[in-house]
Amino acid sequence: MNKCINLVNPVLEFQFPKTASAVIVGGGVAGLSVAYHLSKLGWQDIILLERKQIASGTTWHAAGLVRSNIGSATLTRIAKEAQPLFSELEAATGQITGFKQNGSLGIANNTARWEEHRRAYSFAHAMGVEAHLIDAREAGRHWPFLETSDLLGALWYPHDGQVNPLDFAQALAKGARQNGVQIIEGVKVTAIRSTRGRVTGVKTTEGEIESPIVVNAAGMWAHEFARLADIPVPVQACEHFYVVTEPVEGLPSTLPVLRDMDGCAYYKEDAGKLLIGAFEPKAKPWGLEGIPDEFCFDELPEDFDHFQPILEQAMRRVPILEKIGIRKFFNGPEGFTPDQRYYLGETAELLGFYVLAGFNSIGIQSGGGAGKALAEWIDCGEMPFDLTAVDAQRALHHETKPSFLIPRVSEALGLLYAMHWPGREFETSRNVVLSPLHNETEEAGAVYGAVSGKERPNWYAKPGQKREYVYSYGRANWFENVALEHSATRRAVGLFDQSSFGKFLVKGRDAVSCLERLSTNSVSISPGRTIYTQWLNSRGGIEADLTVTRLEDEQFLVTTGAAVSKRDLTRLNRMAQSFERVTVKDVSNKFAVIGVMGPYARDFLQPITETSLDHSVFRFGASKLARVAGMICRLTRISYVGELGWEISCLADDAPKLWRALSADGQGFGAVPAGMYAMNTLRLEKGYRHWGHDISPEDNPFEAGLEYFLRLEKNVEFVGQSALMEKRELEPRRRLMAFRLDDPGPLLHGNEPIFIEGTCVGWLTSGGFGHSLGVSIGLGYASVVKLDGAYEIEIAGERFPAVGSLKPLYEPENPHLRA
Ligand SMILES: Cc1cc2nc3c(=O)[nH]c(=O)nc-3n(C[C@H](O)[C@H](O)[C@H](O)COP(=O)(O)OP(=O)(O)OC[C@H]3O[C@@H](n4cnc5c(N)ncnc54)[C@H](O)[C@@H]3O)c2cc1C
Repeated sequence: MNKCINLVNPVLEFQFPKTASAVIVGGGVAGLSVAYHLSKLGWQDIILLERKQIASGTTWHAAGLVRSNIGSATLTRIAKEAQPLFSELEAATGQITGFKQNGSLGIANNTARWEEHRRAYSFAHAMGVEAHLIDAREAGRHWPFLETSDLLGALWYPHDGQVNPLDFAQALAKGARQNGVQIIEGVKVTAIRSTRGRVTGVKTTEGEIESPIVVNAAGMWAHEFARLADIPVPVQACEHFYVVTEPVEGLPSTLPVLRDMDGCAYYKEDAGKLLIGAFEPKAKPWGLEGIPDEFCFDELPEDFDHFQPILEQAMRRVPILEKIGIRKFFNGPEGFTPDQRYYLGETAELLGFYVLAGFNSIGIQSGGGAGKALAEWIDCGEMPFDLTAVDAQRALHHETKPSFLIPRVSEALGLLYAMHWPGREFETSRNVVLSPLHNETEEAGAVYGAVSGKERPNWYAKPGQKREYVYSYGRANWFENVALEHSATRRAVGLFDQSSFGKFLVKGRDAVSCLERLSTNSVSISPGRTIYTQWLNSRGGIEADLTVTRLEDEQFLVTTGAAVSKRDLTRLNRMAQSFERVTVKDVSNKFAVIGVMGPYARDFLQPITETSLDHSVFRFGASKLARVAGMICRLTRISYVGELGWEISCLADDAPKLWRALSADGQGFGAVPAGMYAMNTLRLEKGYRHWGHDISPEDNPFEAGLEYFLRLEKNVEFVGQSALMEKRELEPRRRLMAFRLDDPGPLLHGNEPIFIEGTCVGWLTSGGFGHSLGVSIGLGYASVVKLDGAYEIEIAGERFPAVGSLKPLYEPENPHLRA
């Protein structure tokens, strides 16, 4: 029997609505937050539908931990919204949220974790989050029952705390209702209606509702719900555990939250008792046959054996636990995603269909800010700030398959408390999409990383070297390999497998007009030329960063990065729909791409290429069909590494033969296979921007130093042009600068704060080691640009002098580049 009351039916005069301005599906913290914030923006006729009762899914049983610094700029910015929201709601509704600002403490008992905390401390500076590094004694003062003898230190956030999730949800609901939102419980949405790629409404157990906006805030049901419209939202429920002890004598109600990540546990005070929650290394996916329809305020069965190892460690960390009984063993499901980040935003598959789900156990602390961000997105029709880290358009169909999703979330949940090493790769659910060159690169020693399911060589092991990642904040086991690939590319030739690129063929009489509307650069070029361009949003923010090659008068090839292929293709398709005579075809898998980059690229390629590569006839940006080693290829003279180079694309089937021919011919010129890690350090030295790190929908081309590629006077007005015209008259708020440390020792990985004269003026959006320069380098936006200024970059709590520059840190001095 359903233990929830259907609140619709008892109301006799209740008329089920037929239309709405927005339908929000799911009455957990996510859906309620969207409803509240959308109503605050002045939206009327919002309907929130909940299949059972508000908060009866995952929200009710959360531990309620609230923290601000979540390790990435986007996630932190969103989480920071929570605290002011609690006060705002209490003032607006009179409903208390139970927020206690007792602070939080992250402890470290090994050098790796201590470095992680020190780096997090520095990042907190950049994000404006108050944090303090404290010693073991002070940690003991904050947390009286803590075993501190083995601690190296702790990270203290005085403004973190805990909230009562049910009260928070009720406050959001009350606030939303006060603003006119209709919250209807006991109604399940059973179908998604759409016409010509746009959502038009929903079907429910009580009838149909027409609406141009539908929000999937269905928590761990989000996957199943989105599947009704064949939209991938890879969220999988996993069992999630905590125990609550018997009352603990002398436990202060002001006790901070404690995180012992190496003990896989967190602790909080809970009405005089201790609540101990687990992030065990290997989690248990749940609901594999689907979530039971009657699920409502439910708990899952205990699994003491699974929790036991965590509890044993907990007894060592908090010895009083040996003497205190467990009153409650709690097991409840939560939705997890393949990359540990939630989904927020409009889907690629259906206009007007938005998602906010898959919170990976941070829905209470993030739901407030995430709901606000989504409401603003719905309101203005575009990402309101840089939300690319959580963009729902990164979700792919293969990620929803159980064979991929189940092992991956089991790993992903555990990694939430594992070391957050730079460049950490998932180990499960790999080898989904192999490059046509996979066998060849594997033979050459490749060690792979996956982007959007595509396996790409990150670096190449030497013969006899183990192909494994030994992670570190310092020089990891691949450091020397990357140095070698990097310098081979600078001095001779590097061979890069770039087949993971997204490649889209745009054809038809309106192809030029369509691409001109999107591109800041002009695509009215002669066939056989390639341009580099950005695509903007209406505010002038950078939505895409790619190249366009004119193949024929009415035929273009758009080439973009693997991680952003889906969102760029969506943008292209949506623009193409407003033109009659243009078609777009995704040819990404049809062609392989080999980058041949380096000062000797020409000498190396010429003997096997049946066209002249001489600079006089094959200039930068030229793109030609020619036979290479007997195979028809397209050679495009372009480079992301700052050296002479060609990207050679050929049919996927021909690629192995081409790679072998290039590898064989490479011997005389010192050509070596090189991976994505080397490409990253090479592009950083040359100051090439990376979309998703250095440029985003929040950054405009003036701030990003990309004015050179703007054609503001071209015939067709491009999206974002009028916003840029206005921005052109203003001083940029900040500028993307390149930074190099003076000291060759420390390593930059990105996210480090930039200081000038003691003031934090930004943070690094990318960081790495410049092997040609012999020091760590990075790119980052600075609000104060002083070319002779005494910049400092803070790494793990220590500030290092740095030189800031608006120009690339490295320019090739190579005559071969110009010859
Ligand atoms: C043990 C545990 C501890 C946690 N601790 C914390 C913590 O300390 N801090 C923190 O930030 N987070 C924590 N979380 C995570 C947090 O609880 C979740 O991230 C958050 O509650 C998710 O909210 P939601 O709105 O996305 O999902 P839910 O609360 O599950 O809401 C989704 C709603 O959608 C409804 N629904 C689904 N399908 C339909 C449909 N077709 N039609 C109508 N309605 C539908 C469901 O009934 C449900 O009520 C914890 C989670 C667990 C399990």
